[in-house]
Amino acid sequence: MRRISILGATGSIGGNGVDLIRRAGGAEAYRVVALTGGRNISLLAQTARELRAEIAVTAYPDLLEDLTTALTGSGIEAAAGTRALVEAAQRPADWVLSAIVGAAGLEPGLAALSQGGILALANKESLVCAGPLIRQAAHCSRATVLPVDSEHSAVFQALGQENIENVKDVTITASGGAFRDWPLDRLATATVAEASTHPNWAMGQRITIDSASMFNKAMEVIEAKELFGLRADQIRVLVHPESIVHAMVSHVDGGTIAHMGAPDMRHAIGFALNWPHRAPLPVAPLDLAAIGSLTFRAPDEGRWPALRLARGVMAAGGMAGAVFNAAKEQALDDFIAQRIGFTDMAPRVEMTLEALSAQSGFGDDPADLETVLHWDGQARRKAAA
Ligand code: NAD
Ligand code: MG
Repeated sequence: MRRISILGATGSIGGNGVDLIRRAGGAEAYRVVALTGGRNISLLAQTARELRAEIAVTAYPDLLEDLTTALTGSGIEAAAGTRALVEAAQRPADWVLSAIVGAAGLEPGLAALSQGGILALANKESLVCAGPLIRQAAHCSRATVLPVDSEHSAVFQALGQENIENVKDVTITASGGAFRDWPLDRLATATVAEASTHPNWAMGQRITIDSASMFNKAMEVIEAKELFGLRADQIRVLVHPESIVHAMVSHVDGGTIAHMGAPDMRHAIGFALNWPHRAPLPVAPLDLAAIGSLTFRAPDEGRWPALRLARGVMAAGGMAGAVFNAAKEQALDDFIAQRIGFTDMAPRVEMTLEALSAQSGFGDDPADLETVLHWDGQARRKAAA
């Protein structure tokens, strides 16, 4: 039986992963090693019981007692805190879904990579802040990293066995999020509730707001660079309101292969779960006659300054990605807490990048986790100030 773990099992991606495991036969089909979560202890405990996990871990030490109580009599180990998360993530498993949100997913992801196997990576933040570390960890343990972002799974599938030398460029699409068609002068007054809705995808709140601001796409451009070894100028973004074409790979001979499908994350998660094979998934079939037409437009960088910032981050290299991600996380925290407005987020991130770059430049690629966490902390403090 294949051994699997899910980091962030109680979230949107984690829950979709659990749904696929359940449909495939649950504990009868997989040996579930570790499940981790945050504050939703009842969901974590219920999922751990259902899938007969070996261990359930909450990120928060103050919730250990609640988790222990909820698992009484089940024989499932309960643990809490960052060290416990990392210990659980490095337990031998054949397939680990990395679906924690934010830079908090970096250390558990690296721990999962250290034991080999497959890391199905939804946590794009770890690639943005420490892509070279992820690659190095995978190389050392001969682990495989598979993308679990709809656009990157699409690129991976459209690439197939193609020699990367034959690829001219790669296009990832963006729905445009909640404010695609809002007049620009209304954006400054956008509320948290308005930014937390998405026209096509059901996702966690943070990535939904990042879709409205295009920070999600900005992170995905960097994610594509790190995953596929492309140059920054080979990665394009196209606004595609229907979210049916997820990505396109254009070749040097003028041909382009597009990957299409209904906007349902269970495709990307299930593809990674079944890889290198394919199996039926509970995803609606594509009915292009019913959809009728697909539309595309160039992104407006005035509406979405995050895309320009991502270009600067890729050009700067070194620790710029870690600063960019941490400043964005802090600005998003401040927007959600209503301390700043929607259009204040990008200037916050830009000012943080400028301030830290002016101090000492962005240095070399990260050599270890401690360096990443150091820059992450500095960027958060600067962005908050
Ligand atoms: P979510 O908020 O729904 O779930 C996040 C999970 O991480 C939960 O299990 C939560 O308990 C856990 N978590 C939160 N903070 C934590 C911390 N500090 N330490 C440990 N665990 C913590 O988020 P999501 O939408 O499922 O997104 C998860 C990741 O997948 C993100 O990196 C996101 O960018 C990426 N992603 C999501 C989607 C989507 O459709 N939701 C699509 C593509 C990529
Ligand atoms: Mg995506």
